[in-house]
Amino acid sequence: MQDSDVIVIGSGIGGLCTAGLLARYGKRVIVCESHTIAGGAAHSFKRRGFEFDSGPSFYCGLTAAQSLNPVKQVLDVLGESIQVIPYDPLGHYHFPEGTIAVYSDAERYWHEVHQITPQGAKELQQFTERLLGLYEAMKGIPTLALRTDWQIILVLVKRYLPSLVKMLPYLPMVQNSAGNVMDATVQDPWVRRLIDLECFLLSGLKAHGTIAPELAFMLGERSRAGVEYPVGGSGAIVQALVRGLERWGGKLRLGCHVEQILVESGKVIGVQSRNGDILKAPIVISNASIWDTYNHLLRPEDLPANYRQAALETPAVDSFMHLHLGIRAEGLENLTGHHVVVHDSQQDITTPGNTCMISIPSVWDATLAPTGHHVVHAYTLESYAGWERNDGYEEKKQHKAQSLYRALEKIIPDIRERVVVELIGTPLTHAHYLRRYQGTYGPAIAAGKGMFPSTHTPIQGLYRVGDSTMPGIGVPAVAASGILCANTLVKMHQTEALLEDV
Ligand SMILES: Cc1cc2nc3c(=O)[nH]c(=O)nc-3n(C[C@H](O)[C@H](O)[C@H](O)COP(=O)(O)OP(=O)(O)OC[C@H]3O[C@@H](n4cnc5c(N)ncnc54)[C@H](O)[C@@H]3O)c2cc1C
Repeated sequence: MQDSDVIVIGSGIGGLCTAGLLARYGKRVIVCESHTIAGGAAHSFKRRGFEFDSGPSFYCGLTAAQSLNPVKQVLDVLGESIQVIPYDPLGHYHFPEGTIAVYSDAERYWHEVHQITPQGAKELQQFTERLLGLYEAMKGIPTLALRTDWQIILVLVKRYLPSLVKMLPYLPMVQNSAGNVMDATVQDPWVRRLIDLECFLLSGLKAHGTIAPELAFMLGERSRAGVEYPVGGSGAIVQALVRGLERWGGKLRLGCHVEQILVESGKVIGVQSRNGDILKAPIVISNASIWDTYNHLLRPEDLPANYRQAALETPAVDSFMHLHLGIRAEGLENLTGHHVVVHDSQQDITTPGNTCMISIPSVWDATLAPTGHHVVHAYTLESYAGWERNDGYEEKKQHKAQSLYRALEKIIPDIRERVVVELIGTPLTHAHYLRRYQGTYGPAIAAGKGMFPSTHTPIQGLYRVGDSTMPGIGVPAVAASGILCANTLVKMHQTEALLEDV
């Protein structure tokens, strides 16, 4: 008496990609999402006519035919697509000593850096070319073909032997950190800080903590497939994935918080929701974080004690302060969409409040704001510790938002006079709306110090996807985690048939 073949807990990009793909393979799939809006960290929300991205806004290769982006690969097999607006420069980095434009086109980017440090620009070129070599080698093996069991060897040998051979010289780089590649190619202190910043924006960790393939993928996609913003905001990607899921018979239940994963004799049998409903299925896939899954969704006795303890001790990247603003746009005709402001060069870029990320997507897609207005999202790291909804909460919130306002003033000096909607989010807001342990960005698993766990768990029938599984944090990465999980749950010939179809 099963309700479904598979239940997916959570409709983050990781959960939706897994669910959509399994539906495409012919499985009966139900996605239970706690929030009333799908998408997790990538959901969009509306206030007084402004459409806000709650998190991501930087995307590459969502539509280009030559893209390696796993989101694009999933959309393709689901028969879905989205409209995008390409743009370049992809952003501006504002340091106390000056501002540079960052271009997708590597040559133009080196030229910008050359104006600050000619020697550094040469070294950056060597660094980038080494990573682009790895990207080119990775290109021959689409994520859509991969799985996480021993049959991966058969897949690689049978279908991708020439590409595998091409990868061989790059194998030492695959588990290496971007920092080690930097050590071998870049001495210039300014460019080293620039590379640290790019890695931090990607993984939440600096170059020595970020694995080289992750940076190679981002540099490759942005220079080869291009940077683009989805028309309608990040929510448009989520909607396309939901449409794809439903097209293939999958179901999404919103406002359905899973209270417990039900386990009997070491095997999953289903889930129980907060309102007491029980849904039965032989396979449950959790898109909740590693800490939420193992701490809240399972009973301690369901897992081997050592395994559980090690999993719960996984270090976490900090949470965020967010500023979502609706502003008046008159006189801002030359505004560009992405900015990163580093307030103080003497402080570490990872210090909360020091590095502020800014996204103004209405410069590309005017429909996101009422006529004559812009929609702004600024955010910076902020530790979860010490935040409580007590008498001092509002004051602390205002105080902590000031580094974001100061960053915005570098781009729009009179920003404060322009505000018509102001939403300040704290780590508590982030944890609440995204249903994430301590509102974290994700696991802080540094290159060389450990690997992101795979989709498998010690419980038969229970799998995990999303940013606390391989390959890690970021929209393309969590989509890849969904592909790896879904493919592992079907026969090799089913994946081969899918690859033939697309
Ligand atoms: C501020 C910010 C900016 C970012 N910018 C970028 C960017 O520009 N580009 C990029 O590629 N990446 C970016 N990222 C990272 C990227 O957004 C995330 O890594 C990715 O979206 C995480 O997806 P996920 O599927 O792992 O999990 P999540 O998005 O966290 O989804 C998990 C889902 O599970 C649900 N859930 C949890 N517990 C339960 C339960 N018990 N019952 C039911 N449902 C439950 C949650 O509500 C949520 O919807 C950014 C992240 C943040 C926070």
